[in-house]
Amino acid sequence: MNAAGHTVVALLSRTLNMDYLVDALHSAFGQAGQTVELRQADADGGPTALGNGAEVDVALCWEPHHGLWGQMPNVRLVQSLAAGVDHILEDATLPRHVPMARIRDPHMASAMAAYVAWAVTSEHRQMDGYLQEQAKTVWSKPVVVPATHYRVGIAGMGTLGAHCARVLAAIGYDVRGWSRSPSSAPIEGVQHFAGDGERGAFLNGLHALVCLLPLTDSTRGVMNRDLFAQLAPGAHIVNVGRGAHLVEADLITALDAGVLGRATLDAFVTEPLPPTDPLWHHPQVRVTPHIATRTAAPVIASQTAHHWVQVLAGAVPDSAVDVSQGY
Ligand code: NDP
Repeated sequence: MNAAGHTVVALLSRTLNMDYLVDALHSAFGQAGQTVELRQADADGGPTALGNGAEVDVALCWEPHHGLWGQMPNVRLVQSLAAGVDHILEDATLPRHVPMARIRDPHMASAMAAYVAWAVTSEHRQMDGYLQEQAKTVWSKPVVVPATHYRVGIAGMGTLGAHCARVLAAIGYDVRGWSRSPSSAPIEGVQHFAGDGERGAFLNGLHALVCLLPLTDSTRGVMNRDLFAQLAPGAHIVNVGRGAHLVEADLITALDAGVLGRATLDAFVTEPLPPTDPLWHHPQVRVTPHIATRTAAPVIASQTAHHWVQVLAGAVPDSAVDVSQGY
């Protein structure tokens, strides 16, 4: 809290200009009966814009500058402006006892499902081939594998993965989902698998694998050559999780050897993807610039304000994260 008694919200990012959140945050906190002072220690403002960090109540983060937490001893809510929190947890100086929350947004799930449906259907139906044939005025009708014979696995059956599974099952795909614990809300038409014990059965013979896992110690590097060997020959990898889920060198080797047929990648270890990265020009790789889904500023602002009001009331924020599990 500042000297005037206003809640101080620090906007923390080393990669993003957070101007787009300012109006929405004033409006959402105002509606929650709170007056706020915003401090933009973001890509443009830099760490010095934090001012007196002891006054910070709420830290709203996307890839925050490392080592700043020691300056904010009174922070009471750490809020991610996205679904993932790996970008916050990677700083060892983070005070892990402070409540942490993420965004849960139905629009985010719907945009993710649209992206995943595009990735899966366009590869399954070989749509790129028709575009190439159009350029040559070729009219051909290859055999279509029925969706019911096309096995799609969703690794990570959380808010986003479960919605993707529902949409793919509605199209008619043979859908499997994998989570850490057994599903408490099974989805009709989806085969559920849980834990490391059922991982092999989940992966076995998949034509497409969609990664929607959080990035944690147990999921880093999960998509590697051992995993690729368990899929159907020529399978398709769709990575909409985080870049570090995928071992890039293994992916390129597997594509070149025909173990995999295609990769659609939306997340990368280094973003923006450096111009020298071989993924840009690999003929079987489709690159999109981390756009599978985004959350609008008013949603981020209203959930942040709501979580803050819950913290003030001594309650656990609705979308609290289990810091010990990393998601
Ligand atoms: P949730 O936290 O809601 O769900 C995570 C799912 O992963 C849960 O089903 C969880 O299992 C499962 N899981 C976690 N660890 C393991 C493990 N070791 N083995 C098997 N399953 C595991 O996350 P969201 O659905 O909201 O988001 C998922 C991820 O999507 C984010 O963390 C982020 O990385 C990525 N993302 C990408 C975006 C993009 O534009 N490309 C945008 C937004 C998010 P259980 O149910 O048992 O807990």
